[in-house]
Amino acid sequence: MSKSKSSETVKVVVRCRPMNEKERAANYERVVSVDVKLGQVSVRNPKTSSHELPKVFTFDSVYDWSSKQVDLYDETFRPLVDSVLQGFNGTIFAYGQTGTGKTYTMEGVRNDPERRGVIPNSFEHIFTHISRSQNQQYLVRASYLEIYQEEIRDLLSKDQSRRLDLKERPDTGVYVKDLSSFVTKSVREIEHVMNLGNQNRSVGATNMNEHSSRSHAIFVITIECSELGVDGENHIRVGKLNLVDLAGSERQTKTGAQGERLKEATKINLSLSALGNVISALVDCRNTHIPYRDSKLTRLLQDSLGGNARTVMVANIGPASYNVEETLTTLRYSNRAK
Ligand code: ADP
Ligand code: MG
Repeated sequence: MSKSKSSETVKVVVRCRPMNEKERAANYERVVSVDVKLGQVSVRNPKTSSHELPKVFTFDSVYDWSSKQVDLYDETFRPLVDSVLQGFNGTIFAYGQTGTGKTYTMEGVRNDPERRGVIPNSFEHIFTHISRSQNQQYLVRASYLEIYQEEIRDLLSKDQSRRLDLKERPDTGVYVKDLSSFVTKSVREIEHVMNLGNQNRSVGATNMNEHSSRSHAIFVITIECSELGVDGENHIRVGKLNLVDLAGSERQTKTGAQGERLKEATKINLSLSALGNVISALVDCRNTHIPYRDSKLTRLLQDSLGGNARTVMVANIGPASYNVEETLTTLRYSNRAK
């Protein structure tokens, strides 16, 4: 496929997590190989004949089981966050089957500087940048929301039973009506906001794992910068950073779901396929119609996908043989964006 300008603004990277205890104990075969230099991931399907060649996929960057959080941050996320500090919008997605490392990539292990994910690393980055700036004044605001069954919940609101609507204004575009936002002046303050939202996220969820695998969590940081121009006037730039831990990409319908469950499953698959369509349309320069309107997720992020905005999609996969179908599905989905 021809490379368009969007190939610079939309980046897709793959990250394969290590085998976990259980997988090692059960002696599962590793079917994924990663060639970091070539940016390639190969997958051998253990179910097909041993003569069949592995499937090879190429991406902007690939990370294997030994990858460090800080390397992903410096190589892949830092340039995007820098552009947000310059007044552009940016979105980072973690995509993949449940259990492959989406939350590890986004949040990581709190209180462990080496295993901190992109969200806490971006807090540090943003406030360090601000503390070093001399002639600019910054205002940082944070919001935190969740999309579950195509319904929007404000994770920072006192009333967790309320659902919010998407609205559109000619001047500012699509926005979430009545979404709370908190001004934060330090890493500690913005961490506090994130913790509050995470607590609310688990409220009402009987099984947090199941809930997080079926909903999209979006942490939004808005950075306003005002600076005195040579014309003697104050100039304001606003950049927005969306940090998105997506619902699990596993086929939700395969376990014979019925009724409410089936309806829910269909909606989850809908927003993920709508996102895939938007991203592949953005990358394909022949495409003039970008189907933002097909889901809440893509409508909400419309001003941060395409145009001057930058996007990074991290496709997370597991290494073991029993996941091979889901792994191939994830790689095919992500590969459309190339
Ligand atoms: P998801 O959010 O996609 O469901 P998690 O982020 O919760 O998956 O990861 C599942 C488990 O695997 C967690 O225990 C997590 O700590 C671990 N894990 C995931 N990715 C990595 C990695 N790159 N290195 C080490 N451990 C990882
Ligand atoms: Mg998770």
